[in-house]
Amino acid sequence: MAQFEDSFKAALYRITCPDSATLGNFHLGLLPDEAAAPITKHLTICPHCTQEIAQLEAFLAETAVSLQPSAAERIKVWIAKRITTQGEARDGLGTPAFALRGSDNGPLMYEAGDAQLSLEVQDDPEHPGRKSILGLVLGIETAQVEAKLLRGDVVETAVTLDDLGNFTFTNLAAGSYQLVVVGPTTEIHIPELTIK
Ligand SMILES: [Zn+2]
Repeated sequence: MAQFEDSFKAALYRITCPDSATLGNFHLGLLPDEAAAPITKHLTICPHCTQEIAQLEAFLAETAVSLQPSAAERIKVWIAKRITTQGEARDGLGTPAFALRGSDNGPLMYEAGDAQLSLEVQDDPEHPGRKSILGLVLGIETAQVEAKLLRGDVVETAVTLDDLGNFTFTNLAAGSYQLVVVGPTTEIHIPELTIK
C-alpha cells in the first residue's frame, strides 16, 4: 500500500511538472520572472524536478569544457610563411613568392607555428591539363584535421589528412587559391596559392 501511495504521489507530481526543456531553461536563468516563479514554488514540493535539476547540474558540470565559448578561442590560427628552399629564386626577382611552378623545384615549404607544410604541385595523371597537389603537414596532431582549398570564400575541395599528415587534391584548374588546414586546436592559412 505504501508503495502504491508512493507511485500515485509520483504520478500526481509529474502531471503538474514543467517539462525538461522548461526546467533546463529555468535552471539556466532563461525564463522570465512570471514563468520562473511557479517553478521555484514547484521545486520546493517536487522531489522529481529537484532531482532532475541536480542531474542537469551534474551533466552541465561534466560537459562544461565543451560548452565554454572559450573552446573556440583556444584554436590557434597561424598564417603560414613560405620558406625559400635551396636553389630557388629568392623573392624580388620577378617571381611571385607563392607561385607554384611544378615539381621541378621540389616541394614548396611553409612554416606555421609548430607546423611545417610541404606542398608539391604535379600534373594530374588522371585529368589531362589539370593539376594535383600532394601535401604533407608535420609538427601538429593530425587526427580530425581537414585540408581545404578555397577560391574566394568558396570551398573548392576538402580532404581529411591521413595518420601521417598526408593529403591530396586532384583535378585542379590553374588559378589562385587559399589553403586552410583546420583541426580541433589548430588552423593554418596559406592565403595565397597560385597554381599555374
Ligand atoms: Zn515536478
